[in-house]
Amino acid sequence: MPEVRLGDIIDDYCVKCKRIMNHSVVSLLNSGPAKVRCRTCYSDHDYRHEQAPPPKADSRKAALFNEVLAKVQPDSAPAAAAAPEPAAKPKVKRKK
Ligand SMILES: [Zn+2]
Repeated sequence: MPEVRLGDIIDDYCVKCKRIMNHSVVSLLNSGPAKVRCRTCYSDHDYRHEQAPPPKADSRKAALFNEVLAKVQPDSAPAAAAAPEPAAKPKVKRKK
């Protein structure tokens, strides 16, 4: 396993650039990178092991949505709110 040193350039996820970017190691912990600095926007952050942060907003919104559904319709499952049946369309003669 290669040893990481201060100033080394490693890949990590940058929350500002929203993608994997080159980062320089600015802090070490247990001979691994603890903090890194994006080489593109120069923002410091904890080393993320190249992982994007979980989409918190989406999961929270979904939980809230299910909560509201449960209050409004306690007996019906969320599946009941599925798409309505397609309206009967007059069939058009197919042209080939
Ligand atoms: Zn960046």
